[in-house]
Amino acid sequence: MTDAPSYGFDTLQIHAGAKPDPATGARQTPIYQSTAYVFRDAEHAAALFNLQEVGFIYSRLTNPTVAVLQERLATLEGGAGAVCCSSGHAAQIMALFPLMGPGCNVVASTRLYGGTVTQFSQTIKRFGWSAKFVDTDDLDAVKAAIDENTRAVFCESIANPGGYVTDIRALADVSDAAGIPLIVDNTSATPYLCNPIAQGASLVVHSTTKYLTGNGTVTGGCVIDSGNFDWSANDKFPSLSEPEPAYHGLKFHETFGPLAYTFHGIAIGLRDLGMTMNPQAAHYTLMGIETLSLRMQRHCENARKVSQWLENDDRVDYVTYAGLPSSPYFERAQACYPKGTGGLFTFAVKGGYEACIKLVDSLEIFSHVANLGDTRSLIIHSASTTHRQLTPDQQEAAGASPNVVRVSIGIEDADDLIRDLDQALAKACG
Ligand SMILES: *Cc1c(COP(=O)(O)O)cnc(C)c1O
Repeated sequence: MTDAPSYGFDTLQIHAGAKPDPATGARQTPIYQSTAYVFRDAEHAAALFNLQEVGFIYSRLTNPTVAVLQERLATLEGGAGAVCCSSGHAAQIMALFPLMGPGCNVVASTRLYGGTVTQFSQTIKRFGWSAKFVDTDDLDAVKAAIDENTRAVFCESIANPGGYVTDIRALADVSDAAGIPLIVDNTSATPYLCNPIAQGASLVVHSTTKYLTGNGTVTGGCVIDSGNFDWSANDKFPSLSEPEPAYHGLKFHETFGPLAYTFHGIAIGLRDLGMTMNPQAAHYTLMGIETLSLRMQRHCENARKVSQWLENDDRVDYVTYAGLPSSPYFERAQACYPKGTGGLFTFAVKGGYEACIKLVDSLEIFSHVANLGDTRSLIIHSASTTHRQLTPDQQEAAGASPNVVRVSIGIEDADDLIRDLDQALAKACG
């Protein structure tokens, strides 16, 4: 199918990038479980290695099943190209890799997935990169944090988990003015609820592990390039604008135009970092995406019902969900995320740490796991698990105070979820 822009989201989530297998007519995208691909002849091989012809060489770089997923995600996000990776965290490194060098920094939102905070504040230092964390609601603070070595601004659309939603347009205006790309982690929103590129973002990253795959089967990630950023407008991105020594002096931007960043990601990023998605994972994720809009509608509807019920319950102190009128981000959510604000939120239990522990141990439908974006409802008590190494101050700043639990509301019957929470709160709060 030609991916005409006139097709709606529900059609594209099933068809974009895919067509019946030319060899067999198989209607579902086959899992091309092959490491290498036979060259037609030596000339064909040379053209592929010179990037003069697009095709398949070796599955660390490209694979036909993964390529379908890349095209589908690029289409759903309105991007020019996409590179799939082995996990969401791999995608974040791959997103920064063409932009950064030793001494460069990224200005990042303080409201990020905990694992990203660790990756950015600790691990990337090994590459000579660094991150400066700022409150992205304070646009002046973002401007002030950007210096001559800043190569990107990084945020999440719907931030995991504190009921926070980003004003992407406002942040994109700041990064545009500074001549650097805005990278948006769109994992919690998915392209169904938010299109960061349409709001001015240059690059989008996903943990496809979560809602895109949708049922907790495989880890994966993706970087999507809008194709809109002018890598040659200043001298900040020599890997894209100047001869790239890692690819015999190829000038990626001049040669590939809007696909420069995507080609760099494959030809150098995947080639040398090897954070490749495997075709089995791509298959599961393609399956998941076929029902993305239906699931997201139900995740949002259930999260609204469950959060409302919790907010009105005496045993609950507060609920942070941007879909509730009581949220400080409710109006922004209505304006920027009109289809809904996803299935994640936190709530505080009056009995504190002990009550939270009893709550997670008493639930029957909810699973106590470190994951989100599953068809099943999930819960985690961050203070005793993912955030237990942090000081009380750090826990509070991360929205992971001892009296707070995070839920990822699934697509079960909302009434059953409410009944489950009711019985577990009864046990937890005596
Ligand atoms: C899970 C997650 C990641 C990391 O993705 P992995 O697939 O677990 O590596 C990054 N950002 C957000 C918002 C996430 O939820």
